Order: sequence, then structure tokens, then C-alpha cells
Amino acid sequence: MKIIDGKACAQQIKAQIAKEVEMIKAIGFRVPKLAIILVGDRPDSMSYVKSKEKTCLSLGMDCQTYLLPATTAERDILDLVDRLNNDRSVDAVLIQLPLPDHYDSARILESIDYRKDADGLHLMNVGLLHLGEPYVMPCTPKGIMTLLETNNIEVAGQHAVMIGRSQLVGEPTAQLLIRQNATVTLCHSHTRNLSDITRIGDIIITAAGHPNLLKPEDFKEGAILIDVAINRTEEGLEGDVYSPRTREALEQRLSAATPVPGGVGPMTIAMLMQNVLDMYKTRNK
Ligand code: NAD
Repeated sequence: MKIIDGKACAQQIKAQIAKEVEMIKAIGFRVPKLAIILVGDRPDSMSYVKSKEKTCLSLGMDCQTYLLPATTAERDILDLVDRLNNDRSVDAVLIQLPLPDHYDSARILESIDYRKDADGLHLMNVGLLHLGEPYVMPCTPKGIMTLLETNNIEVAGQHAVMIGRSQLVGEPTAQLLIRQNATVTLCHSHTRNLSDITRIGDIIITAAGHPNLLKPEDFKEGAILIDVAINRTEEGLEGDVYSPRTREALEQRLSAATPVPGGVGPMTIAMLMQNVLDMYKTRNK
């Protein structure tokens, strides 16, 4: 079984971004800038934001984080987004999700100028993706497609089984697979007999957030597994399928798989950085 090394792929992409930013600097232009808004003090969100900020700065790009208390009035968040939309030095805006429950998340996300929507979650960008003309792609689905491409995994004509239909991962990934001519089965929590479907899949992408969702024998010989899930268990981080317990049996069964950790996870942040650079380039054509 080939290990699809997301960490190495993400490193290569980040090195290329750093090189491009260096060139931008060398010719005297301002560098790309990401603005991040974090509302509340969820420890997981804080650590994701820190790591996005750190990566952005390490690639030579600029990053400004706005830490707002969960008591901030929704109007004030909308005003901040409006200021960032109109700030010519800001190329991309990211609102760290989930927002605390008392906010209208959809309204706040829609307030971002879709041309600065770093995560590709704005209604306009969702629509453009469905039409096959994405302006910006959501980071995790883009990371999955990049991993398939850079590992020379043929998608056209394959039966791809996407498990999970979230706006963040499952739905946009299914759309991208359809656009690349895969035959796609989209499974979710109401799907019956999941393993009957995975056993006839060529490429299985799991994003349910349930450790031990499927067993190695639930895949056909030679299938490809992209395990997106990050489950925190007593034994550490595990995917929906990939774990130290299943690794050996998966090796006998599959032709390729992403490990957890070190598979899709590192690609998500690399794709965010790519989105920031691409938006900068589009705006400064
Ligand atoms: P979500 O909770 O929004 O969606 C989960 C989806 O899985 C739902 O559509 C649900 O219907 C489906 N599902 C749940 N149980 C199921 C079952 N038993 N059978 C079939 N389908 C089932 O979650 P999300 O935001 O899409 O994230 C999913 C997982 O991916 C999580 O573990 C999350 O941590 C991980 N994730 C990883 C990255 C990354 O960079 N690697 C990025 C985003 C999310």
C-alpha cells in the first residue's frame, strides 16, 4: 500500500508559496495579507488560528488576527468585516468556525466580499463551485483533490464514495469529483448498509468523524482510502478508518491511503495559504 504523504506534499506547496512571496518582496510590492477573525475562546479554535497565523508569517505573508470576545455584538463583527472588505491591503478574510451559537453564522459569512473569502464558504463561491467555475475552493476539498492529482490517482471514470455531506468537506468534495468525471456516491448518517457501498468503491473518502466507522474488509482489494477525519481518542489522533490498530490490515487490502495524522490535515492549511496568494495575484493582476 502506498502511503499518500500529505505532510510532504504540503511542504512542497508551502515552499513554492514562500518562493513566490520572496519574489514579490524582491520587486518591491507589498506581500499578500490574510485577516483572521476569531470570536470566543474555544481552545481548539485558538490553536487552529495560531497555527494559520504562524504558517502565514513563516511563508513571508502578512497576517492580522482579530480576537473578539463572545459578547461582541453581531453588528460590530459585520462592521469589522466591512472594513476588511474595503481595506486594499487585505487580500483574504477568514472567520474561524464554529462561531458561538448566538450568532447568525450564515449572515456573517455572507458579509465577506466573496473575492476575499479565504475559506471558499461564501454562497457565491459555493454556487460557482457547483457550476464548475470556482473562484476560490474550500481548503480541505482542494487539499483532497490536490493529493489525488499529485499522487497520479486517476479520478475520471472511477467510482468515488464520499462519506459525509457537510458544507465544509463532503458536499464540495463530491462536486469536485463529479467535475472530474468520477461516478460519485454521497453517503451520510441516514445511509443504510454503508459497507455494501464502500465495498464497490474505487476511491473512498471518509469525513464522518467516527473512529472505527469501517473495517479493512469493508473495502475492495486495491481500493484507495482518503481518510479526512480527525478523531481524538485515548490512543491519540485517528481517522474514521486509519489508526495504528487498522494500519497493518489496511496495508494488505488497499493500494493507497492517507495516514492520520499526516494525510489530509497538513494539506488544508497549505491550501489556505495558496488561496491567500491566489487572491492577492488575482486582485493585483
Ligand atoms: P460534520 O459533523 O459537519 O459532518 C459529518 C458528516 O458525516 C455528516 O454529513 C453526517 O451525515 C456524516 N456521518 C456521520 N455519521 C455517519 C455514519 N455513521 N455514516 C455515514 N455518514 C455519517 O463534520 P465535518 O466538518 O465535515 O468534518 C468531518 C470530519 O473531518 C471530522 O472528523 C473533522 O475533524 C474532520 N476534518 C478534517 C479536516 C482536515 O483538514 N483533515 C478538515 C475539516 C474536517
